[in-house]
Order: sequence, then C-alpha cells, then structure tokens
Amino acid sequence: MATGLVITAHPGDFVWRAGGAIALHARRGMRVKILCLSYGERGESQWAWKQPGVTIEEVKQQRRKEAERAAEILGAEIEFMDAGDYPLRTTDAMLDRAVDIFRELKPSFVLTHALEDPYNVDHPEAARFAQEARIIAQAAGHKPDPSRAYAAPPVFLFEPHQPEQCNFKPDVILNIDEVWETKRKAFEVLAAQKHLWEYYTRVALNRGMQGGRNSGKPMTYGEAYQRLFPEAVEALA
Ligand SMILES: [Zn+2]
Repeated sequence: MATGLVITAHPGDFVWRAGGAIALHARRGMRVKILCLSYGERGESQWAWKQPGVTIEEVKQQRRKEAERAAEILGAEIEFMDAGDYPLRTTDAMLDRAVDIFRELKPSFVLTHALEDPYNVDHPEAARFAQEARIIAQAAGHKPDPSRAYAAPPVFLFEPHQPEQCNFKPDVILNIDEVWETKRKAFEVLAAQKHLWEYYTRVALNRGMQGGRNSGKPMTYGEAYQRLFPEAVEALA
C-alpha cells in the first residue's frame, strides 16, 4: 500500500497547511500517517488556558483529542511524540522511532515545515528532525538489514503562516477542490484557533486562483508546497 508521511510540530499545522493533501491521498486509497511532535499545548492553545486552574496535562489531553478527531476527518492515522512546544525538544529515542517509521512506511512523499520561520522556531526544528530521520533511514549501517531496500522519498515543504519571512517560494500547487469540505471540517475542530478559519480559507482560494493560472485548468482551492530536492524526470513533456 502506498503511504504518505506528514511530520509537524503542532496539531494545527497538519490541518491548516497539509489537510488538503492528507485528505486527497487518503481518499485515493493511500495510507497517510501524521507524526505530530507535540500537542501544541503552550503555543496554540490560548482558549484552553483561559480555564482557571487548568493544568498542562489537561491541555495536552484536550489538544490530543482535537488532533485525533481532525486526523480522523482527514482519513489519516496519527502518532504523537510529546516533545513539548515552546520549546520543542526532541530526544534520540524520538529520532530512532521516526527512523523506524520511515523504514516501515517507505513513504512515497514526506510533508513537513519550511526550513526557516523567524516567528516559530518549533517549525524549522520539526523540519530538521524530519530531514535527519529521513537521512538516517537511508544509512545502511543504521540497524543493518541487507534484505531491506529503501529509497529516500521526495520532501515537500508546506506553506508557513507568513511565507515571505520564511523564504518559502511555492513550486507545487495541489488542487484540493474535491476535499475542500473535508479540510474545512477538520479545521473547524480546532476551536482554539477559530480566528484562523477564514484566514486559511482565503489562503486556499488564493492558491487555487494561482493554480488555475499556472495549469490552465479550473481550480478553486489550492495548497502550496515547495520541493526540497529537484524532481528527476525522463522527459520534459
Ligand atoms: Zn505550528
């Protein structure tokens, strides 16, 4: 079964930035797995922290439930690492687990954060972690197994909140028209970030317009990506 792997710092990220790609490939029969490095408990849970006396464990549990619900709507499975957020700190054990996931899934594509984000250092940290796991998964000397063939998958960086500041320049626009309603339902699960619902609808409409302009085919809703590595092809047309 073909698989896709999505590695994000916080739950909101896989919904806003890659929810269309996740829903689209899941609908086409792919196994899509989200590896969510934290619960976004400190940095994207403003609403939860307004409850007097709430503890960090309670906030984590609330966010975990939300993230699981959003993943279910999108048709993906989700695994958490509880690396914390603000700051996000991964361990060697987490890296080892991520390498195992790469080798087990042999993903056809990986989606993760842009390499820079001056507003949120958890994001480039998650991207660095994803790259490191992908690289180690290719290393023959890591848990050697000569019977195992492994090819490194292409990596697509999804769109950050403020793309220009993150030096994000999209070179792929994915048509998400057929799954837009699913993506919208998934982000309506994120009650703590209601202020972003309309914002990310506008982002999708703008990318859809650009997708139509670049493809000559009608597109209403789009999701933008930047390839980390060149695409190797046999012909240009
Ligand atoms: Zn985030």
